Amino acid sequence: MKKVWIAIATMALMGTPAFASGHGHGEHGKHWGYEGDVGPAHWGQFSETCAKGKSQSPINIETAKVVKKGLPPIEIHYSDAKAVKGKVLNNGHTIKVETENGGYIVANGKRFDLLQFHFHSPSENQVDGKPYDMVAHFVHKAKDGQLAVIAVMFEKGKSNKALRKVWKKMPKEVGASAGYRGLDLNAILPQDRSYYHFTGSLTTPPCSENVEWFVLKHPVSIGAKQLSKFHKLYNGNVRPTNPLNGRVVEE
Ligand SMILES: [Zn+2]
Repeated sequence: MKKVWIAIATMALMGTPAFASGHGHGEHGKHWGYEGDVGPAHWGQFSETCAKGKSQSPINIETAKVVKKGLPPIEIHYSDAKAVKGKVLNNGHTIKVETENGGYIVANGKRFDLLQFHFHSPSENQVDGKPYDMVAHFVHKAKDGQLAVIAVMFEKGKSNKALRKVWKKMPKEVGASAGYRGLDLNAILPQDRSYYHFTGSLTTPPCSENVEWFVLKHPVSIGAKQLSKFHKLYNGNVRPTNPLNGRVVEE
């Protein structure tokens, strides 16, 4: 009985958008990817929203058009390093770090719990037509199911100490994972957390909308060796940018 309950609970979790990425099958049981006939231009076969959605992510942030709103800081309440645990997973699309007891953020007066973070290289959102070398997407979920993503940009430079633990655990084989205990999430973020805000979607099928995006303006560094270690597994796991369709980017 207990086993059955766990199976149901697991299925329920996988059904939520944040966990659904990596489980979308299209016509003929094909799996989505970043190239060829399963690449981003063909994601409509996995989820109609990817092809027809009007507030899709990622976007190109044109700084000259950003509206200065004097938005309040995001309240970030990530847990102390020793309280955070979970696993580092190679899911075939990215390296994903699941965070148990990772803490939460409050944005626009609403609480979103941290579920996981993962990486794309180069970055998906661009600033004035240019991507950064890599991005981490911190995915959070509210009680009502709404998602909020904080994007942390990485620029090639000094080795990044805060990433070392994750990089050491990064599994080479698709489907493999490695458990970890203790992780300083706050140290991965830049000191200055000023941000661009807009509404968008998941950047992988099912491309679900109503996602709050917070792209931190200040990049952090990643070492050349660290970046090339990631590139051996994933290089170009990036969806092209999408039209704003009347959306406004605020800061
Ligand atoms: Zn992402």
